Amino acid sequence: DFNEMVRFAIEELQRTTEIHHILADLQEVGLVYADKERVSQVVTNLMTNAIKYSPDSEQIVVHSSIENNSVVVCVEDFGIGIAENNLNKVFEQFYRVSGSMQHTFPGLGLGLYISSEIIKREGGKIWVSSTEGKGSKFCFSIPIQRTN
Ligand code: ATP
Ligand code: MG
Repeated sequence: DFNEMVRFAIEELQRTTEIHHILADLQEVGLVYADKERVSQVVTNLMTNAIKYSPDSEQIVVHSSIENNSVVVCVEDFGIGIAENNLNKVFEQFYRVSGSMQHTFPGLGLGLYISSEIIKREGGKIWVSSTEGKGSKFCFSIPIQRTN
């Protein structure tokens, strides 16, 4: 049950912060055949980033929906955002947006790389849209495999 997995991941992470509020905007998704542990790790990675890179905004929204036989999950934040010329690099291994924020927000630059590898293995896609200073929306899709 896909949304149950998402809700559980949200609950677990919500416990670690009193500042941020993670809102669930979940459409009926039903059953998805995928590696639950790994996909839930991706959702957690995206939410962890959303929290980390939103020091001045409390709201995080997690969306789920079905589009063209795939489940689509988006994690939206209203934080620092990413400059357009860096957008395509964020999924690269060890890449971190450079500048003063490098010292402000600790990390290795691996979370999104690992996430993209997991989603690739599931036959899905991962992408981002973002506006610097406004926020980011990271989405992934996984095809819903039907057994018949
Ligand atoms: P970690 O390995 O601990 O996840 P990280 O968060 O730096 O470290 P990634 O999760 O791979 O690494 O993210 C890569 C870079 O993309 C980040 O360093 C940051 O510059 C940028 N980034 C990722 N998510 C967001 C976001 N929600 N808002 C703004 N920038 C982001
Ligand atoms: Mg990260």
